[in-house]
Amino acid sequence: MREGLKVGILGGGQLGAMLIRHAIDYGLNVSVLDQDPASPCARYSSSFKVGDPMSYDDVISFGSKLDVITIEKEAVNTQALRELAKAGIKVYPSPDVIELIQDKYTQKKYLEDKGIAVPHLIQINNKSELEHHTEMLPACLKKCKNGYDGKGVMMLYNPTDINNAFDEPCILEELVDIKHEISVIVCRDAAGAVICYDPVMMVFNSQHMVLDYQLCPANISEKKATEAINLAIKTAEAINIVGILAVEMFLTSDDLLLVNELAPRPHNSGHHTIESCTTSQYEQLLRILVGMPLGDTKLKKSSVMINVFEPAANKKNSIEDAMKAILKTSDVHLHWYGKSSGKAGRKMGHITITEDTVENAITKATIIRNILKDSYGQE
Ligand code: ADP
Repeated sequence: MREGLKVGILGGGQLGAMLIRHAIDYGLNVSVLDQDPASPCARYSSSFKVGDPMSYDDVISFGSKLDVITIEKEAVNTQALRELAKAGIKVYPSPDVIELIQDKYTQKKYLEDKGIAVPHLIQINNKSELEHHTEMLPACLKKCKNGYDGKGVMMLYNPTDINNAFDEPCILEELVDIKHEISVIVCRDAAGAVICYDPVMMVFNSQHMVLDYQLCPANISEKKATEAINLAIKTAEAINIVGILAVEMFLTSDDLLLVNELAPRPHNSGHHTIESCTTSQYEQLLRILVGMPLGDTKLKKSSVMINVFEPAANKKNSIEDAMKAILKTSDVHLHWYGKSSGKAGRKMGHITITEDTVENAITKATIIRNILKDSYGQE
């Protein structure tokens, strides 16, 4: 194997921690850069460096000792990564891909120009410009940069909503009549070989716009699943990614697939691959980083993934009590991120339920959600 290879991750969150967990199987020592000394990766990496992945100097000093660098979040300094790539350090995904994806307008415009269907959108520089586009309402307003988990997204139903709109560069996007939200993860290696996971279906909490749970396989026809896979591959090739790419899509009420958003890194919608698939998304990324062949993506078991959020302080009960009840059930896999408890709504962990059918997994997931609500206080 490639034990001597020095691998680095920009970002020390739970996605990085799950990558480290899989790196152990490959005998790799992974270095991590994150600002927060208490981030999940800090406890698993002996080469954890406190520093800002957005800082040019921090990324250069972290990366110059490495052979290969990847990311677990998009907010990283691409200028520094470009310098490191010039110096011969492998950067997967490339700085160009990261930069393209960092800005929602650039990302979607690029895809549109490549003939990939995205919702109709325009660029908005500030709140006052919205007044000139009231004919587009109702519409969806999204911050171009640093939005995640629905935090940079708001719906504008009528012109009075503009008063509370974001006052920064945004995209204003047609309100799509969404039948289903799905995601396909594509893995693409340095030689251009590509393999995809089965589409997953995301079910969102309509009030908070965060993921409620995620099913695999998605409840869509085989024809649509193939179409989604082909669209994801076309997207990965269009941006020329080396690494893994989550392609989030809308299946519209007219049965059209539109690409909503890309993530060039391990993604929530691939959490289930740890237990459900022959090769997890994390192992897949490591294989790409160290130049090993892509692994089989076969779905061995159907799954449902549920996020575990920090409850509101006045509702919070012991997670241990909830887990004692939940972990009595078979084929239930807990991933606790070890984050310090913070704001209500913070993602603290996730649970993957594997079953022979997705219906059976949903039945168990419903019971587990009720336990999380009653014993832990999760909304
Ligand atoms: P984030 O980057 O914060 O995850 P998304 O673009 O994925 O933002 O939007 C969050 C959620 O908002 C989506 O999952 C979807 O439910 C809803 N949404 C986003 N764009 C649209 C749209 N154009 N029309 C209707 N709903 C949308």
